[in-house]
Amino acid sequence: MDFNDTSAEADFRAKVRAWLDDNATLRDGSKTTQDTFMAHNPDQVVQAGKWQKQKADAGWAGITWPKEYGGMGGTPMQQVVWNQEEGRYRVPPFAHLVGVALVGPTLMVHGTEKQKADILPGLLAGDGIWCQLFSEPAAGSDLAGVRTRAKRDGDTWEITGQKVWTSGAHYSQHGLLLARTNPDVPKHKGMTMFIVDMNDPAIEARPITQISGAESFNEVFIDGLKVSDANRVGEVDGGWRVALTTLMNERLTLSVGRAVGGAKTEELIDLAKRVQLNGRPAIEDGEVRARIADFTARQRGLEFTSYRIMTSLSRGQEPGVEGSIGKLLLGRLRQEMSGFALELMGSSAAIADTSDAESLRWRNEYMTAPGNRVSGGADEIQRNIIAERILGMPVDIRVDKDVPFRDL
Ligand SMILES: Cc1cc2nc3c(=O)[nH]c(=O)nc-3n(C[C@H](O)[C@H](O)[C@H](O)COP(=O)(O)OP(=O)(O)OC[C@H]3O[C@@H](n4cnc5c(N)ncnc54)[C@H](O)[C@@H]3O)c2cc1C
Repeated sequence: MDFNDTSAEADFRAKVRAWLDDNATLRDGSKTTQDTFMAHNPDQVVQAGKWQKQKADAGWAGITWPKEYGGMGGTPMQQVVWNQEEGRYRVPPFAHLVGVALVGPTLMVHGTEKQKADILPGLLAGDGIWCQLFSEPAAGSDLAGVRTRAKRDGDTWEITGQKVWTSGAHYSQHGLLLARTNPDVPKHKGMTMFIVDMNDPAIEARPITQISGAESFNEVFIDGLKVSDANRVGEVDGGWRVALTTLMNERLTLSVGRAVGGAKTEELIDLAKRVQLNGRPAIEDGEVRARIADFTARQRGLEFTSYRIMTSLSRGQEPGVEGSIGKLLLGRLRQEMSGFALELMGSSAAIADTSDAESLRWRNEYMTAPGNRVSGGADEIQRNIIAERILGMPVDIRVDKDVPFRDL
């Protein structure tokens, strides 16, 4: 494992820091409720658009993207360095992440030349916001179970169905949609990927209010949407391959960098020094110290796991299953740490006082952590991956493998 930047990476990091110093404000430790992962109100979306454009103008928006599409032509490791550094600054929540980190790389592999030329350059500049229309009420972990149907009539497809948990659908202009095109073959072999216009009246996005009060994802209803065959991505019935490319990029995005986010144990230590327990600072209590020590050990373990990912990226290798370990442990750690912070703060933390940024911040962390344990593959799915691909245990029994979708 390499813990330090190579000299080229250190140079790159210095340039990134210099630009961020000039264009953004460092976090001072007192995070606010604005520190959400996804934009969920119009003001955040506008701010995210300005930040995206600012990065694009300076050449930072597409670090790993080829120069021909407006990117920097850099390495995945440079992207990781950028993500780490950007995470240290107070910048708007994500609104363009799906377009830049998921849709762009997917189109580079599976898109037609026209799709690449028309869409890719604008993606970096934040010209349009994209959403990922994959999950459905009966297709989440088992994504190949999608029922949204696309039927072909000449050069046009008609799509009808329902998606759910679609982040940002209510403020997106475009979507990448996975639909069933052939129910007569096994489920993985009968889906096709499409680019859809989210402003089409045949699409209705209904935001879902989360426990935190935010509305960052949606139910999406699609009723007779007409899509030109020119907006198909990849082969007819070859959508699973396209989806895997998108999902691989999603896992990478969620396993290293700013997207991972989360509170740090230093913040807990700071809190424990300030709050009182049994008449003395909580940090002096043995049990509090033991809990914080446990969190710190787990956080360090996660850090070292992320170094493994970075080391393989640095060597030009594909990211491996370490991403599943990181994702599995991080979600639970975030939930336990924020729960402990709320315990330390006592009843004040449970009262909805919007003037107390610190308790709001920990409450927000506590309420969003469970979502992180589900998005991008739930805990149990990560455990299955670790069991099968790291520990070499027998694979899940798949009774539907060779059965036509319509008979399932
Ligand atoms: C914050 C957030 C944002 C999201 N954004 C998007 C988005 O933008 N676009 C999109 O398409 N989707 C999005 N999703 C959906 C996400 O991909 C799914 O929620 C996820 O894949 C789980 O699917 P599910 O909710 O249908 O749960 P299910 O698949 O129904 O799972 C329910 C439970 O059963 C367990 N389970 C399922 N199968 C197995 C198995 N084989 N072995 C053991 N246990 C199993 C799961 O782990 C889980 O605990 C988002 C989700 C969240 C929480």
